[in-house]
Amino acid sequence: MPEPVIQKSELKKACKNCGAELKYKPGTTSIICEYCGHEDHINLDTDPIKELPLRVYLESQGSQANSEEISILHCKNCGANQHVEENYKSLHCVYCGTPLIREDAKTEQWILPGAVLPFQLTQQEAIIRFKKWVKGLWWAPNDLQKATLDPQSTKGLYLPYWTFDAQLYGQYSGQRGDYYYETQSYRDSNGRRQTRRVRKTRWIPVSGNVQGFVDDTLINASKQHTGKVPRGIALWDLKKLQPFESGFLAGFVTEKYTIPLKDGHLESQDEMREIAKTWARRDIGGDEQRVSHLNMQLEEETFKHILLPVYISAYRYKNKEYSFFVNGENGSISGKRPYSFWKIFLTILAGLFVFGLVYLFSK
Ligand SMILES: [Zn+2]
Ligand SMILES: [Zn+2]
Repeated sequence: MPEPVIQKSELKKACKNCGAELKYKPGTTSIICEYCGHEDHINLDTDPIKELPLRVYLESQGSQANSEEISILHCKNCGANQHVEENYKSLHCVYCGTPLIREDAKTEQWILPGAVLPFQLTQQEAIIRFKKWVKGLWWAPNDLQKATLDPQSTKGLYLPYWTFDAQLYGQYSGQRGDYYYETQSYRDSNGRRQTRRVRKTRWIPVSGNVQGFVDDTLINASKQHTGKVPRGIALWDLKKLQPFESGFLAGFVTEKYTIPLKDGHLESQDEMREIAKTWARRDIGGDEQRVSHLNMQLEEETFKHILLPVYISAYRYKNKEYSFFVNGENGSISGKRPYSFWKIFLTILAGLFVFGLVYLFSK
């Protein structure tokens, strides 16, 4: 008889006292009831975070291993796949604000996340940061604040990433450049003979081997175009990763990867190649290096699917879509914002006026 399967992805927990859904409390290892304050602890996995063997997963039979079913809402407007843990009264796409219909949810397979970096910042803290940011914006229309500060439009989202580890072996050939100096003589503008030292580079052919372990190359697994997370805030302290527990997702939206493992792996190989080149340059030494040929092998490749936290607010202002992001771990903020034509116009006008006055007085 097959063993009963415990579905880890959707382990919903209800409050013992009042039956309401429990939500993860950022910065803790608890899920709490917003209505009566009842608190439950998330059972932390004491095993180290699991790395999965890559080859098995890239071959089709293996891709079902360590996978589970999860209910997914697909946004027809921007294509984002999202899993919503909470029973929101009205559901909107986290990226573009398009209304979603709960009945449209489909059950899909996903490779279970190996780790999650739990939210450290609460939604209120994210909104406070956003308020400050909006206030500090130059050239922003005055009524922007009203348009944007709707707490309903700010949602916590777990973003999908792939990480890859490998033992890297590289054989390179290239050239090593060493500086040397020559004394040259020349005539200066007065026709006198002078000497100067000129730097030259002597190139010698080199070849060699490099090897080492590459840990956790981080590859974005979300194919989002609308409201793509800006690079500036896409930095998380991966030391805070916890083994996956669905409790951390309670009350948040989780995006299912739209970039398949195979494509993520190809991108990670490009990154590994860059790492191999850096190692080769260091190995070559000298003052300058050229790597003309590099042969790379990756062995014992492993990967994991991880979830990283951001707060995202998709807002409409004068019929245009804007979005802003707050890193859910460290609070860094970035976003697209509208500019006020009149503020810029009047400032330029004032500038011209001052310039005109200065000009008149100087006459
Ligand atoms: Zn309760
Ligand atoms: Zn959307």
